[in-house]
Amino acid sequence: RIDEMAHLIRRRVPVGDWPPEWFHVEDNIRRRDVLLDHGLAPGEALAAALDRGPTGLLGEIERSALRGRGGAGFGSDIKWRSCRDAWGDAHYVICNADEGEPGTFKDRVLLSSDFDMVVDGMCIAGFAIGASKGFIYLRGEYRYLLDRLETRLAQRREAGLLGRDILGRGFTFDIEIHLGAGAYICGEESALIESLEGKPGKPRIRPPFPVTHGYLGQPTTVNNVETLALAALIAVRGGEWFRAIGTPASTGTKLLSVSGDVARPGIYEFPFGVSVAEVLEAAGATDTQAVTTAGAAGSCLAVSEFGRRIAFEDVPTGGSIMVFDQSRDMFEAARNFAHFFAHESCGFCTPCRVGTAVNARLMDKLALDRSSPYDLDEMERMHHLMQGASHCGLGNTATIALRDILAKFRPAFDRRLHSPDYEPGFDLDAALS
Ligand code: SF4
Repeated sequence: RIDEMAHLIRRRVPVGDWPPEWFHVEDNIRRRDVLLDHGLAPGEALAAALDRGPTGLLGEIERSALRGRGGAGFGSDIKWRSCRDAWGDAHYVICNADEGEPGTFKDRVLLSSDFDMVVDGMCIAGFAIGASKGFIYLRGEYRYLLDRLETRLAQRREAGLLGRDILGRGFTFDIEIHLGAGAYICGEESALIESLEGKPGKPRIRPPFPVTHGYLGQPTTVNNVETLALAALIAVRGGEWFRAIGTPASTGTKLLSVSGDVARPGIYEFPFGVSVAEVLEAAGATDTQAVTTAGAAGSCLAVSEFGRRIAFEDVPTGGSIMVFDQSRDMFEAARNFAHFFAHESCGFCTPCRVGTAVNARLMDKLALDRSSPYDLDEMERMHHLMQGASHCGLGNTATIALRDILAKFRPAFDRRLHSPDYEPGFDLDAALS
């Protein structure tokens, strides 16, 4: 289906002519909880927020202890208050829909099935911080959703749920959709803002942070799709209700995209605090040897760690759970990650630009049985160097899964060492080509 989709995109076939069943993602949802089973009408959350007023709404978000679902887990109330209190000619809300982490597809489901919740969440954020303009930064690969989302925004404007004088309550807020161009780094909020301004997507030097100097230098709050949808739910049901779900430090539920060696891949909504083993059981995983919990940029857990909890205080995740059974060569998984980051590094700073490239080359050397233990030590050194010296989160997290796999699945690397036919002066480029 992906091939067929790419074919239609290349041929510029209007999205309206695509098979309608392609837009139904309900079959991907395997477990629903409060967010995927909300039962709210479009605009209901927005009306509840307007009733509460900006201060009351911020109070509920604070009581809920909602934390950002993109992975970093920053407190939403702190972000919104800092943005509201910052001086500026205008304030902006940005919905980060640049879902590019390998193995993550949860936001696609929300955008396809629950777009009104996301829009309500953006309007609510705008109401809380005093913004009248919002942007959805849509992942380039989700271009096929663009026409449908634009149509829905137009319908909401006609229904008085977006634009001028929303619900006749004097609140004005409108949304523009901006399409990304496929760069992973644009999921980083300051690179996203640069891209939105029409510049190359390179992370900014921070501080200042986007909440005070964001889009066009104005106060801007950037939130993940899932965070905004949850904020809409909190506006209706209140902060105490939300806080009762999950763990004390990680309230509410989390959407997990589960893929790989499982019988039932798809989207699962669990309260925070669920164990990795429970997720694997729900997804029908058997004979599992490893799980990466944050795509290519997070920890890789071995069997002895499956009792750990999905929560910011134990195993934080943006939602990507990739499962590897015993048939998988974890060295090849690590090599794949190394090449992914070498490709996606934006090249702005030396530790990441060079470090990711060196790691990819070292993994290629290993794959060709041309390595020595020195190369494995070199990867370890590269990990420490990049973590301390990289300019943004990509460089700081690019080696986490690689290092975890090296530490926990060492035999997969060791059996590639000490090649009997090692020759000084070996031409790696020639061997790879
Ligand atoms: Fe670019 Fe990597 Fe440096 Fe981030 S860490 S600014 S992605 S080169």
